[in-house]
This record gives sequence, C-alpha cells and structure tokens, in this order.
Amino acid sequence: MEKIKMADLHTQYLRIKQEIDHAIQQVIDSTAFIQGPQVNQFAESLAAYLNSKSVIPCANGTDALQIAMMALGCKPGDEVIIPVHTYVATAEVIALLGLKPVFTEVDGKSFNIDTNQIEEKITDRTFAIVPVHLYGQCADMEPILSIAKKHQIHVIEDVAQALGAVYTFSDGRKLRAGTMGTIGCTSFFPSKNLGCFGDGGAIFTQHSELAEKIKMIANHGQKVKYHHDIIGVNSRLDTVQAAILNVKLKYLDDYEKRRNWVAEFYDRELSPLNFVEVPYRVVNSTHVFHQYTLQTKGIDRDHFKTYLESKGIPTMIYYPVPLHLQKAYASPEYPAGSFRITEKLSRSVISLPIHTEMNQDQLFYICSTIKAYPHHG
Ligand SMILES: *Cc1c(COP(=O)(O)O)cnc(C)c1O
Repeated sequence: MEKIKMADLHTQYLRIKQEIDHAIQQVIDSTAFIQGPQVNQFAESLAAYLNSKSVIPCANGTDALQIAMMALGCKPGDEVIIPVHTYVATAEVIALLGLKPVFTEVDGKSFNIDTNQIEEKITDRTFAIVPVHLYGQCADMEPILSIAKKHQIHVIEDVAQALGAVYTFSDGRKLRAGTMGTIGCTSFFPSKNLGCFGDGGAIFTQHSELAEKIKMIANHGQKVKYHHDIIGVNSRLDTVQAAILNVKLKYLDDYEKRRNWVAEFYDRELSPLNFVEVPYRVVNSTHVFHQYTLQTKGIDRDHFKTYLESKGIPTMIYYPVPLHLQKAYASPEYPAGSFRITEKLSRSVISLPIHTEMNQDQLFYICSTIKAYPHHG
C-alpha cells in the first residue's frame, strides 16, 4: 500500500504531467511572466465555471480578502463579523486594515457561522459579514444575505475551502460559492481543491464597477500604467500559475467527485462508531470536501491522533486554537469561555486524509485502524 498522506500533489501532477509541463514551457518561451495572456484566459474560464460576471486573479487568498475590503471602501474602526472557528487569514486582513474583527459563534454541526447569532453583533459601525465556507460546505447564505440587505452591509464570502460548492436557495435557485455575496474570495494554495504550484488567489463579483476597482487595487491602483488613481497593492497571479490553473480547472469536477468518493467511504464505515461523529451534510449546499473532519466523542482527541500517527495515518487539527484565544487577536471582550462550541471543536475536531489520489486499500486500512482504536464506552 502506498504511504498515506494528507495530500498527494505529486501523483496528482503525474496524471496530467504532459499538459502541465507544456503549459509551463509555453510561458517560459514567451517570457510574459507577469500579466501574460494565460491570466485573462484563466479568469474567463473560471468565471464561466462559476457563472460569475467577473473573476479577478490576485496573488493569494489572503490578499483577495484584503483587496475586497479595500474595494468596498472600509474605514479604520469599521467592524467585520466573522466566524471565530476559521483560518487566521480571515481575521488578519481585518486587523491589518485597522478594522475590528467581531467574532461570532459557529454551528456545532455544520462548522459554519451560526446565522442566528449574527444580527445581535451588528452595530452602526458594521461594515461587512465574512461567511467562511469551511471545510468545503457553504455557510447558510440565504439568511446571511437577508440580514446584510436589511442592515445594508456587505457580504464577502471566503471561498478558499469551497471552490465549486453549490448552494440552493429556498426558491430553487442554485449559485456557486463566492457568487452570492457582494464579493467572493478564494485561494489557489497548492493543497486547496484547485491548487497551483505556489501562491495564487482570485476575487469574484457580479458588479462591473466594483470589478474595475478591484482590478485596479490589485495592480497598484492603476488602470493606465504609471497613473495611480487609488491606493493599491501589488497582488497579481503569475502567468505560470495561471497556465497551470488553466489545465487543472478542467479537472476540478473530477477532483470533486474523487473527494466525495473518499468522504462517502468514510461516512459508510465510520458513522456506526460511537466515539467519532462523521461530518454533517447540510441540505442546501453540496460539499466539496476540502477537509473530512470528524468530531471525537468521549475520547481524548490528541491520544487518538497519536494512535493514528503510530499506525502511519497522518491527521490534522483545523484549528487547535480558536481566534479569540490567539495572542494576536485576544481581547478582554472575549475571555476563554466566550465561544463554547468553537472551544469544544478546537478540542474535538480531527481531519482525516482526503485527496484526489486516495485508493480503496488506503481507505480500508484507515477505517479498520480507526475501528480498532482501543476506547472505553
Ligand atoms: C487558505 C485559506 C485562506 C488564505 O489563502 P492563502 O492563499 O493561503 O492566502 C483564507 N481563508 C481560508 C478559510 C483558507 O482556508
């Protein structure tokens, strides 16, 4: 049996090596390393895939969030509502821009922001809500959008873990993650569902004026070279990365199917166990399984993790320390105990290997090893 990894980018590459190598070589031969034609081609293909009016590529997912907030005209002191159970990037750019992250509890089943707790966080300084589609499943966008509309605040979707996920509204309308809010932001970090060979990101919007502004901000605030109308940043997607993404985008649906096949295997084998809970599937979103995250019940999660490691099964904890308990983001407003669900998740979640290259032997081995875990109860 092949060694089990959290991600297997090498085997994934080997399956499309010829196409990828050719695409990279073309960029090298053209030497159009910055803003080569592949960047626009990719933006257009991704826009078509998502059914989004505009896609603006940028340097990484963290920049995408920062540029989104800048484009919407955030002002120092503005408040941004975010789930407290998420990756640090979401909070980081908020703090960097002089805004205030307002942490909000998540739902203990879906892991996404608890929409019943958003409205009480809104003040006259609230600028935006940033729902994060964590682990690959959409946050409950319908109530989020209606709260945002009522209070006239922006919605910036963090799609870094859920590119391709589809949300269904109560009237049957279906939209891809990132195309529902004012702006959507994603990452092409190598291990994301659509990953490049370095850093990469993109911003989606359905508003053409906003798209123009985002494009300018991502490129030094200029539309015409050396004419800087607004303050911007240097955040472009390299042509080489765009060329790679052009190839890989064609396989995204296949990648999603493979991830779902792994998830269904785990669900089938692990749902009867009483010491772990398999991921809950919400009814109104597809799941693209960036992560397959269990919650342990009545066992010591860290002991369980060490046990799996000793059997050659890597796992990861997303995330071991909630944002409000991180040194950089701690505030007297949020002492330990402020977010009981998130704090419990930080002690109970464990993500199993899930990627496009896993095979049945590996899955049987992982599941039988988990079933053999010596637990009491
Ligand atoms: C990966 C990730 C980001 C940041 O993306 P980078 O490209 O690494 O900057 C932001 N938010 C979430 C939820 C992520 O998982």
